[in-house]
Amino acid sequence: VQTYAVCPKCSAVNRVLLTEAANKEPVCGKCKSTLPLHFGINEVSPVSLAALLAKSPLPVVVDFWAPWCGPCKSFAPVFQEVAHTKAATFVFCKLDTEANPAASSTYKIRGIPTLILFKNGTESKRQSGAMTSQEFLSWLE
Ligand SMILES: [Zn+2]
Repeated sequence: VQTYAVCPKCSAVNRVLLTEAANKEPVCGKCKSTLPLHFGINEVSPVSLAALLAKSPLPVVVDFWAPWCGPCKSFAPVFQEVAHTKAATFVFCKLDTEANPAASSTYKIRGIPTLILFKNGTESKRQSGAMTSQEFLSWLE
């Protein structure tokens, strides 16, 4: 199974085999920077997310979260599990709204966790509040 990983340095979108990413940290084919892809999930900034939304061949799912948010932390394993199951269909991302406060106004985030599904670069739907993996899977359908 492959996914797409966006480079935090040069914004190139790289195709990455998840089996390879599990063994060693993937690097950008263009600038050789380490790609922040963990368990198949991209850690994005507003800049790299914009690049990914412009270039991703697959729909993109973003978890807007923050380290201080309890419900975000309990949702993290669910997000990881679903990211693993649906790696062939979606590109999964996490955006830390504490580290990137501007993202909250850009994407009008009112509470976290908020999940946004982007299709062809534009918002398709969003969900505020954590979900079970079953709810999350049917939300993605
Ligand atoms: Zn790069």
